[in-house]
Amino acid sequence: MSFRLTALVAVALTAGAGLAGCGGAGAGASGIEQVRVLRLNPGALVTKQPRGATTVRAALTTTAAGAPRLPPAMAVPQVGSLAIGRPNRGRLVNGLQLPGTGPDWVTYDPVLHQVPNRPDRRWGTDRLLAFLLFVLRDYRLANPGAPPVLIGDLSLPYGGPFGSDLGGLGHASHQNGLDVDVVYPRRDGQLRPPDRVADVDRALAQDLVSRFVGAGAQFAFVGTRVGLGGPPEVVQVIPHHNDHVHVRIANWRR
Ligand SMILES: [Zn+2]
Repeated sequence: MSFRLTALVAVALTAGAGLAGCGGAGAGASGIEQVRVLRLNPGALVTKQPRGATTVRAALTTTAAGAPRLPPAMAVPQVGSLAIGRPNRGRLVNGLQLPGTGPDWVTYDPVLHQVPNRPDRRWGTDRLLAFLLFVLRDYRLANPGAPPVLIGDLSLPYGGPFGSDLGGLGHASHQNGLDVDVVYPRRDGQLRPPDRVADVDRALAQDLVSRFVGAGAQFAFVGTRVGLGGPPEVVQVIPHHNDHVHVRIANWRR
């Protein structure tokens, strides 16, 4: 799948810098495994869209006239991230860190129940971050007044097991930079996860899920009681997802 990105801005750090305490297995010492940090690049809009994103494109067109004022979108550098193995048995090379907060999102720590999420829990491939940021901006343009979206765990800096030993229920997948948990918007607009399904703004949540699908998500796992849907080959109902949708992109580089 073709997915081109704009404005390459990357800062390479030495491996391990700022990551003390990361419990990520597979944090290898190989020289090819650099750690890069995604930097805010105001004014550089992500202008390319995923192929086949007809729903997304239409939404952008129809909202252009009355587009809300939003901070400049963040451009995602294309740094050659590699998703190795599988989401439930894999690792991440040359990953990018999602900033704790951004123009369209706030990260959330599902274990400590605080914002932002801890730095070692929000790493993904360059393509996942570009995909995510594109959909979040599209969603916010289409829903004027909608608050930023709460983003949960992605992967560890080098991927690898992300189980309950790191707190909470843990994740069976989230191992190779292709998965991200996105918290459903609340009806009261508060930036915290819904406590019960009645707290979920279903219209906004469905819109968000549909935009991920339209932009080419491989899977969107939603909860059993939250009443969200979509193409059954993509939107799948599973337990433990009544407060967030787990989005996975395909490993396009393989
Ligand atoms: Zn997940």
